[in-house]
Amino acid sequence: MDIVTEMIDALVDRVSAGGVVVLSGAGLSTESGIPDYRGPSGVARRHTPMTYQAFTGDRLARRRYWARSHVGWRLMARAWPNDGHRAVARLQDAGLIDAVITQNVDGLHTAAGSSGVVELHGRLDVVVCLDCGNRISREELDQRLREANPDFAARAGAVNPDGDVELDDAQVAGFHVVDCTLCGTGMLKPDVVFFGETVPAARVARCFALVEQARLLLVLGSSLTVMSGRRFVLRAAKLGIPVVIVNQGSTRGDAYAALTVDAPLGRVLPALADRIAGAAQGVSVVTPVAAG
Ligand SMILES: [Zn+2]
Repeated sequence: MDIVTEMIDALVDRVSAGGVVVLSGAGLSTESGIPDYRGPSGVARRHTPMTYQAFTGDRLARRRYWARSHVGWRLMARAWPNDGHRAVARLQDAGLIDAVITQNVDGLHTAAGSSGVVELHGRLDVVVCLDCGNRISREELDQRLREANPDFAARAGAVNPDGDVELDDAQVAGFHVVDCTLCGTGMLKPDVVFFGETVPAARVARCFALVEQARLLLVLGSSLTVMSGRRFVLRAAKLGIPVVIVNQGSTRGDAYAALTVDAPLGRVLPALADRIAGAAQGVSVVTPVAAG
């Protein structure tokens, strides 16, 4: 029996009792073609991420963001859930996972069939007006950006997890940014939490409440580098709720974990779901619940 099989056995023991709250990060989406710039296989981010302050205070920075993001969106919009996302949805369907909290902005948990996902850092496919609060789909904005930039034929380079890509200054200079059509002048921003911005307090409180009710906190594909996610591990540990971490590479939460599984999520999670979600589906009575 190889070491990964042994780790999957240990994972089965932990997860099969249910009451699991998942906290997922970029490592879960790398197999969907969205690079994890902090993970072992990730490419280094070539420029510093856009901050909220630069986005809102600097017209050129904002233009650069939207130009890059306009290209990056082509690739993000093509990303599909992978076996890891689907395994999480199967475990949730089987009643073993109570809640999914994700640091990812790609919407792939929901696309894979998970319900009630708490998207800690928002969603890249929603755009919000910072003046009037109007929210539109990224698809709608994409259409408007295409119309405003009919000749914008930039080639996409490496894509970062936030949909950002590399473009040269000349390409950026020719890009036209569009504003909110509802209020006329409002600044549009992806409905994601930028660096330098805090997660809305109500959303954080909801996540803490979920974690506090968990029997087990299962971290999937997060190096727990930023406090935004690590604080939930710290809270669980403080309350004596076991923490299990499945991630390629070490994490900043390893010291608090009852079990760490350093292996590809695309191998571990489907195997876990096959072992316990498959069995649970065979014996449980499925009661339809109201959507929402
Ligand atoms: Zn507006």
